[in-house]
Amino acid sequence: MKILKSVSGIRKALAEEIKAGKTIGFIPTMGALHMGHMSLIQKSVKENDITVTSVFVNPTQFNQKEDLDKYPRNLKADAKLLKQFGCDYIFAPGVAQIYPKKIDTTVKLDIDHLTQSMEGPNRPGHFVGVVQVVKRLLDILEPNKLYMGQKDFQQFSIIDYMLKKLKMKTKLRVCPIIREEDGLAMSSRNVRLAKKHRPLCTVIYKTLIFTKENLGKKTTKYLEKKAMERLAERPFNPEYFEIVDGKTMEKIKNPDNHKLIVACTAVWAGKVRLIDNMILKGKV
Ligand code: AMP
Repeated sequence: MKILKSVSGIRKALAEEIKAGKTIGFIPTMGALHMGHMSLIQKSVKENDITVTSVFVNPTQFNQKEDLDKYPRNLKADAKLLKQFGCDYIFAPGVAQIYPKKIDTTVKLDIDHLTQSMEGPNRPGHFVGVVQVVKRLLDILEPNKLYMGQKDFQQFSIIDYMLKKLKMKTKLRVCPIIREEDGLAMSSRNVRLAKKHRPLCTVIYKTLIFTKENLGKKTTKYLEKKAMERLAERPFNPEYFEIVDGKTMEKIKNPDNHKLIVACTAVWAGKVRLIDNMILKGKV
C-alpha cells in the first residue's frame, strides 16, 4: 500500500494502473476510520483491481469551526487499518492540493431542491462543500466506482444526482450502515462521546426501529413528533427527525405514494452531533 500526498503523485500512479488495464474503486473519507469505513473498503476490494481511499478533512463542508478543529485526525492508525483491509493507495492531500488558487473548484450544479430538508437547513453550505470536494476528487482519480455509506443518506443522494446530472462516468455504490452491537451507527465522532452518554445513545436506533414498525399504522406527523419527544430526553437534544421520500428528500404524508421512504435524524449528545437513518420502505 502506498500513501501519496500530491495530486501529481496519485495521478501518475493510477495512470500506470489504468494502462495495465486495472479497474479502480474509490472511497472518499475524512479519516478517523472505523469498521463502517472498512465495509466500503471491503466492497471495493472485492469489485475492483485497485482500491484508493482518500483521507481529507474537507474544510469547505464544515459550517462550525469548532467541529472542524475537533475532528479526529490519525493518519498512522488509518493507514494501518487500510493496509489490513487490502487498500492499495491512500490519497492524503493537504488543503492546497485540493484547492489550489489557480483552479476553480466550484461546481456549477443546482442542488437547492435536495437541500431544503434535514442536514440542508441545519448545516448551511455543507452540501455545496461536499459536492465540491467529491467532484474534485473524482476529477483527480477518475475511478470506475465510488463507494459511499447509507449512513449519510442525503449526502449520497446528492452525489448520485451530481453524477447523473453532470454525466460522469463513475458508478456509485451505496453500502449499508454498520452499527455497534447496541445499534449506535459507527461514526468517527463517537470517540468524542462522554462515557456516561455512550450507553444511552442506543435510543436513536430504538427510535428509528419504532418508526419503521409503525409506518402506515400511525401518521408520519405523529411518528416524527413522538421521535422528537423521545430524542429530547437528557442528555440528548434532537435537531430534526424527518420522514422523507428517499429520492426527492421531501417530507411525506401518505407512505403508499412513495417507493422509497427513509427516516433521518440528527441528535446532539452533549457536544457531539450524531446522525442516523433507517429505510422504512423500499431499497436504495
Ligand atoms: P466520513 O469519513 O465520515 O466522511 O465517511 C466516509 C464514508 O464512510 C461516507 O460515505 C460515509 O457514509 C461512510 N460511513 C461512515 N460511517 C459509516 C457506517 N457506520 N456505516 C457505513 N458507512 C459509513
